[in-house]
Amino acid sequence: MSRFFSEKYSALTPYTPGEQPRAESPLVKLNTNESPYPPSPSALAYAREHTRSLNLYSDPTCRELVELAAEVWDVAPEELLFTNGSDEILNFAFMAFCDAGRGAAFPDISYGFYPVFAQLNGVPYMEVPLEQDSFRIRPEDYFGLGRTIFIANPNAPTGLLLSVGEIESILRANPDNVVVVDEAYIDFGGSSCVPLIHRYDNLLVTQTFSKSRSMAGARLGLGLGSPGLIRDLNTIKYSTNPYNINSMTLALGIGTLLDRDYTCRCCKAVSENRDWTAAQLRQRGFTVLDSAANFLFAKTERMEGGALYEALKNRGVLVRHFDKPRITRYNRITIGTRAQSMALLDALDWILPKEGSV
Ligand SMILES: *Cc1c(COP(=O)(O)O)cnc(C)c1O
Repeated sequence: MSRFFSEKYSALTPYTPGEQPRAESPLVKLNTNESPYPPSPSALAYAREHTRSLNLYSDPTCRELVELAAEVWDVAPEELLFTNGSDEILNFAFMAFCDAGRGAAFPDISYGFYPVFAQLNGVPYMEVPLEQDSFRIRPEDYFGLGRTIFIANPNAPTGLLLSVGEIESILRANPDNVVVVDEAYIDFGGSSCVPLIHRYDNLLVTQTFSKSRSMAGARLGLGLGSPGLIRDLNTIKYSTNPYNINSMTLALGIGTLLDRDYTCRCCKAVSENRDWTAAQLRQRGFTVLDSAANFLFAKTERMEGGALYEALKNRGVLVRHFDKPRITRYNRITIGTRAQSMALLDALDWILPKEGSV
């Protein structure tokens, strides 16, 4: 820290992103939940042809993308907002809907950015413990907290999904507080809460093009909610960076929404491979939580989580280990192609030979 750093940030611990090895690295990359597939060829062609001249600012209203997305998500254009990745809209939500007097609440095991955004914005926060052993979110724990609630659904890194009815119970029990439902992984098999935005003016749903739409590097996320919430978020956006979506990403986003069939096929391939990989891990004695996302959260009694992470890395497979007390035995494994899963299983069979096969 330099002697010039603002005192209000002196205690801030920034988010630690998953490792991004160099492009030429031979590592099998299963650590940050990206799609193994590139954007669709037609989306890339669309972006090449339709990117607005780069000497001009991008469209701050994202008009074309917003109009198309409103049709795709079946909402009004006033009910959605695009941001630079969904991390940006989550930060905007902490800025817009929390303050020193109105704190935040989120699960003790969830997306690691929530506590960082809370600290960044001087928001007091409460970490609500997941149910012991099952790691489930208990909706009742969030009833009437008098705080802005952040819930990832499916949750990360567990992959466990709440039903729309369970989310609705949280909305009903908190009519005077915003409930943010982070649906970064909803396209891999869960039911979205977006239709509820028409009935609950306290619901903000966030989604992203990073996971299911193969655009992690292009940075595009969105929020869906009642026009009042979206107006507030726009106030924050226009007070920080009106051109938060660059013209290349805008065009690629449109191209991607014009080829939804491709997105569907990619998600289907990933979810099928997830279920296959989970079965393979269970056959090898792993405990694997029931994931509705594009990753698995798994542990084995035969090796500590951090040691397994290291051993896998030495065998060329990169996964994610979180050194937090309740989950230190686990690793989070991104689901990519079948070939990537086979490389993972080969490495595991080398590290932990099948019992009786030595
Ligand atoms: C990946 C992720 C995000 C954000 O991704 P962006 O790339 O910023 O859109 C948000 N929430 C959760 C739970 C995630 O895992």
